[in-house]
Amino acid sequence: MEEIAKKIDDWVDAHADEIIDLTGRLVQIPSENKPPVGFELACQNYLRKVLEDAGARVDYFFLEEVPGFKESPLYLQGRTYKDRPNVVGTFPGTGGGKSLLLIGHIDTVPMEPMPWIESSPFSGEVKNGKLYGRGAYDMKGGMVSMFYGMKCLRDLGISLRGDVIVESDVDEEYGGSNGTLASRIRGYTADAAIVPEPTNMVVYPVHKGGKWWKINLKGTPGRSFSQEEIVNPIHQMAEIVQILRDFEKERNTRPGPDIHPLYRDNPNLLVHIWQVGCEGATFSPAPGVDEKEHLNVLTGAPSGCYLHVFVETHEGTSEEDLEKEFTGYILSRIEKNPLFKHSKPEFEKKIRYLEGSHIPMDHPLLKSIEKAYHSLSSRPFTVQGAPYQCDVYLLNRYYGVPTAILGPGGANAHAPDEYVLIQDLIDLTKIFARIIVDWCS
Ligand SMILES: [Zn+2]
Repeated sequence: MEEIAKKIDDWVDAHADEIIDLTGRLVQIPSENKPPVGFELACQNYLRKVLEDAGARVDYFFLEEVPGFKESPLYLQGRTYKDRPNVVGTFPGTGGGKSLLLIGHIDTVPMEPMPWIESSPFSGEVKNGKLYGRGAYDMKGGMVSMFYGMKCLRDLGISLRGDVIVESDVDEEYGGSNGTLASRIRGYTADAAIVPEPTNMVVYPVHKGGKWWKINLKGTPGRSFSQEEIVNPIHQMAEIVQILRDFEKERNTRPGPDIHPLYRDNPNLLVHIWQVGCEGATFSPAPGVDEKEHLNVLTGAPSGCYLHVFVETHEGTSEEDLEKEFTGYILSRIEKNPLFKHSKPEFEKKIRYLEGSHIPMDHPLLKSIEKAYHSLSSRPFTVQGAPYQCDVYLLNRYYGVPTAILGPGGANAHAPDEYVLIQDLIDLTKIFARIIVDWCS
């Protein structure tokens, strides 16, 4: 192994520019997910060619062509899949070894919020050891490392007994998971999988779940010129925001006995408030009036307010449990509040419930990853609980593919100036190559 490790390191160092170039190129080809649609096509076409050139057996397919996809109970309704192909490259082994799936999502969140200061959203430029752009960190950089880990072994002529499957799926952001689902229904499976979501080089054998609600509040619009009772939904919203902050604080004081050991040091579950807005608070501009000159405020209470909130869970909390806990808390807090005497908040489910999942701490995949880290002595092997949700639960819980999360370091995922660390991409490639050799030989 030591001899192979040396060959891997020399090869990766010699191909470092290629790894960085491909990451930059993929960032420069936008693949934003804007539900219900997504714009992954150009990036997937590019990747298809890259995989073909590397000698993979490539399957390029549109999600809705997969028999049984839309009929699956796991299918999330409401998205459209025109021009959204998955790309799966298989590197067949010689037989008799364990297979490994390397799975990434090619879609990114939109380039917003603006402004970007250090760089622009699709520059792919490198400054001070950081490669900038939407998707660089989440997760095009990690995908390039996983692919180059395999490409390295192929170029070095290192033969593997098990198959290696490199998969690039669409529609993971916004809780889609439908891309990953389509590839599973198409039949791609393995003895284990790794997903290179951003992890800052730490290994996550466990991740959180959660649920996204839109909370709708109704008031009485206008102003009280004749003593009519006005309920301003903005006042209701102020109450709701405070209640959500209290909910977050209070539930974190009782983390529960079933919490995964890797979350014991940081068991907190977050309540993310993403957007608040008013309904019926604006009017259309008069003809000929410029949008900038338009004084777009109605002089009275709006008719409604809304808020988007995502509530995290640990694995083991069912959707029903969460719903009861969450809506029960809010409703009990406003029970005697006169602001809500005529209308109660309405809870609208936005996407599927995302489940948490884990693999056992003594799973052989983790042993393989640990060995790879020890072999590349410059990087310590650390395991933690993922501070986020992702589509890994589909693999772990529904398709029997034990999956760990391992990706590069960087910052600003879903924010301006997203970047990935160049050195991490190089080291991660070396680590992926080692894992593949150990697992598939
Ligand atoms: Zn991601």
